[in-house]
Amino acid sequence: MNQNTHLKTDICIVGAGPGGALLSFLLKRQGISTILIERQPHLLKSFRGEVLNADGEAVLKKHGLYPSVTQRGVLPLEQIQYWENGQIIHTIFPGEQESHVGIHVPQDHLLEVIVSQSQNQGNEQVLYNTVMTGLLRNKADKTIGINIRQEGRPASIEAAVIVGADGRYSAVRRHAGLTPETRKHGYDLLWARIPAPAGWEPAVRMASMDGQQLALFSQFGGFVQIGWNIPQGSFSKLREQPFAPFVQKLVAAFPCLADSVAEHIQTWSDFVLLSVESSFAESWAQDNIVLLGDAAHTMTPTGAFGLNAALEDADALADLLIEMAADQFTSTERLHELQASREEKVKQQLARQLEMESSFQQRYESFQ
Ligand SMILES: Cc1cc2nc3c(=O)[nH]c(=O)nc-3n(C[C@H](O)[C@H](O)[C@H](O)COP(=O)(O)OP(=O)(O)OC[C@H]3O[C@@H](n4cnc5c(N)ncnc54)[C@H](O)[C@@H]3O)c2cc1C
Repeated sequence: MNQNTHLKTDICIVGAGPGGALLSFLLKRQGISTILIERQPHLLKSFRGEVLNADGEAVLKKHGLYPSVTQRGVLPLEQIQYWENGQIIHTIFPGEQESHVGIHVPQDHLLEVIVSQSQNQGNEQVLYNTVMTGLLRNKADKTIGINIRQEGRPASIEAAVIVGADGRYSAVRRHAGLTPETRKHGYDLLWARIPAPAGWEPAVRMASMDGQQLALFSQFGGFVQIGWNIPQGSFSKLREQPFAPFVQKLVAAFPCLADSVAEHIQTWSDFVLLSVESSFAESWAQDNIVLLGDAAHTMTPTGAFGLNAALEDADALADLLIEMAADQFTSTERLHELQASREEKVKQQLARQLEMESSFQQRYESFQ
């Protein structure tokens, strides 16, 4: 792309996460001119939403993507186990009509499948290393697209509709002034990923550690993802303390992890900190700008709703934009219909997360 490159499209999507990638695929499949930009040089993500629930699975099945995703590699999780002192104290099995309690899908598998299916249909792929830097306005101060930097060079994309699918710290949302209401949840999360011990069953394992949730998620490829809740804002103090007694608690809760922990979690730096918060933008649309997924409503990792909600948003927005194509996207007030159709379910999920977080210890104690 040259210094003054100016691209033109109907729909410009910022962010190739699950929401943006799926929306781009669905629009391009209908022949709608769409550009998808991504600030990263690739689709690889670490510690992102990777548990697909029935809602996300249904969206992928609806659009014929599910068989390719499973072929690429997924891991159905067979149970949720509650552990105490190295013993299982309670197990939750899938419901009668279900074969699993969630499916681990590495996010790069999911994104690669969606993007490659789009390419198979002859469509241009994602513009990587391309970051949205601001809104492009005409002389009348009307938003007509976005400014970008691609590999350090400024350029712009003119579009009838701009979609902010750029996640929890959305630049589109900020530039459009669609300030969200954010909420802290009283805890932060330490993540680590280690090889699973031999014979490790595919399950979610829960323990209570100092009254906080410690969760282990089996992952495709023979890994265990550790999600350890710690009191909000406590990590800097925690890091000043000796590491060995802290990690020893993990081994005491799950003795079978002893060897893998000893080899792979040796310092505080082997944990990644997620500062936990949720947010909800009061309005998901303004003029010709619309937000979806985490940009519109960031969820906490509890209950694994975020990835699935982003896929559902993309599905709903694709239907809307396909209808709006009939009048060349002039009826932009219709962009508010995304929020109208989705916000009730999203609010219920946000409320459910709060309820699950506040009742964890009580629920755990009821199994003892
Ligand atoms: C640690 C962690 C664990 C989670 N676990 C789960 C789980 O198990 N199940 C679940 O359902 N959800 C989970 N979530 C939530 C889930 O990851 C998100 O809800 C989901 O990824 C949202 O998808 P999205 O497409 O809206 O945004 P994102 O996945 O955040 O994608 C946004 C994309 O936009 C790009 N971008 C950002 N700014 C710009 C810019 N200015 N220009 C260009 N590109 C930009 C980013 O690089 C990114 O690729 C988890 C989240 C975290 C952080």
